[in-house]
Amino acid sequence: MALDAQTIQAAVDAAHRDCTTRTGGANASYIPYLASVDPSLFGVAVVTVDGAACTAGDSDAEFAIESISKVFTMARAMADVGPVEFHRKIGADPTGLPFNSVSALELHNDKPLSPLVNAGAMSSVSLVTAVDTEQRWSRILQTQRAFAGREIRLSVEVNASEQATNFHNRAIAWLLYGGGAMYSDPMEACDVYTRQCSTLITTEDLATMGATIAAGGTNPVTHEHVVDAELVPHLLAEMTMEGMYTSSGDWAYTVGLPGKSGVGGGVLSVAPGKLAIAAFSPPLDPVGNSVRAMAAVAQVAQALDLSLYKVPGAGDPPLDPLVKG
Ligand code: GLN
Repeated sequence: MALDAQTIQAAVDAAHRDCTTRTGGANASYIPYLASVDPSLFGVAVVTVDGAACTAGDSDAEFAIESISKVFTMARAMADVGPVEFHRKIGADPTGLPFNSVSALELHNDKPLSPLVNAGAMSSVSLVTAVDTEQRWSRILQTQRAFAGREIRLSVEVNASEQATNFHNRAIAWLLYGGGAMYSDPMEACDVYTRQCSTLITTEDLATMGATIAAGGTNPVTHEHVVDAELVPHLLAEMTMEGMYTSSGDWAYTVGLPGKSGVGGGVLSVAPGKLAIAAFSPPLDPVGNSVRAMAAVAQVAQALDLSLYKVPGAGDPPLDPLVKG
């Protein structure tokens, strides 16, 4: 299928129109700020590897990046310590358990397994080369900015809300430390991880961040080299394995693209070498994935025939059910 601007815009518009009526789910409530976001916000965006953007709805509304930040910190830490060392220290297997599971650590000698669950994300933060907290944070923020091609900012409000309630993550950081899988001061890693979750992005930013991955690590809008192309397959593999939490298998089965979601309501999928699809809407299913954003990304992916697993000439699989719970 020709991925010209008109075809992509039509798919984005249709997904926005069709999925607006999709109800169900609830804003994340364990982080007080997220509970207060307008649940009707809904944006969809595609950015191609040529830097062309197609958007619909509230695609310029800012929202908290949350777990999606784990992908970009993974890129930073992998580049800093090298992919072999990164893999050895963190792992790459799905946990099969919720993103903040302590049981997952218990089952694996306090080792994280995946960089895309909270434990592995905090380990990744601790592997970023830095002499102190502020340098660690600034290198991670700089990485988010380079992927997005924009001056992404920390939300003081989101960060305050998360720092005041992140006791569970602090406990995970100490367990990792006890298990020898924390490579900086554990409370520093938890603090910086909490900040990296508290930056504000738009749906179009998210699509640009994904397009930088799709384009092999060079931002297609700014042309900045952000991460080596050799590291990109590791990011995509990990997004496939754990990006949609305990629905990662369902996402691969139905949509057939690497994905990543965050409890702020963002969902990203990457079609390597082609484009990235992003959507945002706050209400989440019980697993932690945005109900509307998942539906919209899935619809665009199917309309543009992007599944990595589809053989030429085969028909489309049914997209439902994507929502757990
Ligand atoms: N900041 C959130 C947390 O640590 C991010 C989780 C998420 O988006 N899944 O719980």
